[in-house]
Amino acid sequence: MRSGLISKGIAGQWEARPLPVFDVSVVVPVRDEVESLPYLLEAIASTLKNHRLSYEIICVDDGSTDGSAQYLKEQAQIRDDLKAVILRRNYGQTAAMAAGFYYACGKAVVTLDADLQNDPADIPLLLAKLEEGYDLVSGWRQRRHDAALTRLLPSKIANWLIRRITSVYIHDYGCSLKAYRAELVADMNLYGELHRFLPALAYIEGARITEIPVRHHARRFGQSKYGLSRTFRVLMDLLTIAFMKKFLTRPMHVFGLFGLISMLSGGVLGIYLTWVKFAFHEDIGNRPLLILAVLLLVTGVQLFCFGLLAELLMRTYHESQGRPIYRVREVVTKKQLQTNS
Ligand code: UDP
Ligand code: MG
Repeated sequence: MRSGLISKGIAGQWEARPLPVFDVSVVVPVRDEVESLPYLLEAIASTLKNHRLSYEIICVDDGSTDGSAQYLKEQAQIRDDLKAVILRRNYGQTAAMAAGFYYACGKAVVTLDADLQNDPADIPLLLAKLEEGYDLVSGWRQRRHDAALTRLLPSKIANWLIRRITSVYIHDYGCSLKAYRAELVADMNLYGELHRFLPALAYIEGARITEIPVRHHARRFGQSKYGLSRTFRVLMDLLTIAFMKKFLTRPMHVFGLFGLISMLSGGVLGIYLTWVKFAFHEDIGNRPLLILAVLLLVTGVQLFCFGLLAELLMRTYHESQGRPIYRVREVVTKKQLQTNS
């Protein structure tokens, strides 16, 4: 939707934006990475200059306390190729990336970590793959340099689960090094820790997705900002994605179905109990079955109402933001072909 003319604003409204002026915008979320930054900026700049690409680097400082923000501000005043976006506090990697996307003016957007674990020398490879007609190219860290038990194992399981649930078959969801077409980035809304699921969100938006192997290095400075605790958050986000993928535009299909099943089973049990009471004059007041019947009936009605509310919310979501429920890749008419030729 953006294609340089319009783009989604911070609050979700559509607003005028400048045409893409760079071949690529490199978006880097930064939290406490001051030692890495000089090497990182240099590595990105030299690679992209060598490939004669016009570029900008957007470093988003996510509430650093080690002087990263100060360093970025100083550098942004000296360098032509750096935009420093300083967030007011620490919002998390997802929000930092979303802020970077908002300020990006490139035809393509590449994201990578600030800690030198991703190799900027891989950026041209990703861009070349985008040129082949993909909307998203994801990096695949075939030889990862992270702790085996706390990082590699959970990551293997998470990748397997995400692949199964989202049906986007890439190996390495956690790799930050990814390249996107600008239009795609403008279409995606990020919440929670959803940056890990960008390929899945992109898939929901109808994007063509692929992956290529990229290099990965051990952290040279500082420490990882994540531990095992992120597994839980990833799982919760995965549930959201699974639901969105299937039922974003038709929540009643899931809530309605479960509501109906619940109400019907409650109803059948209720009728059976009534029959027992009147045909055999049995006392049904102390039967667990009665509680179950009532519970099923009430739950069923609630699920049904929930589905209706979700339908209303979904309509508000799409209509208030002017988001159509489909995405058009291109429109071809005879007239257009003639004018183009
Ligand atoms: N990061 C961030 N905000 C946070 C946590 C991390 O901007 O709250 C940045 C961090 O500076 C790095 C990237 O996100 O550039 C990935 O973080 P990290 O290297 O700690 O994660 P890992 O590579 O260990 O998964
Ligand atoms: Mg890292």
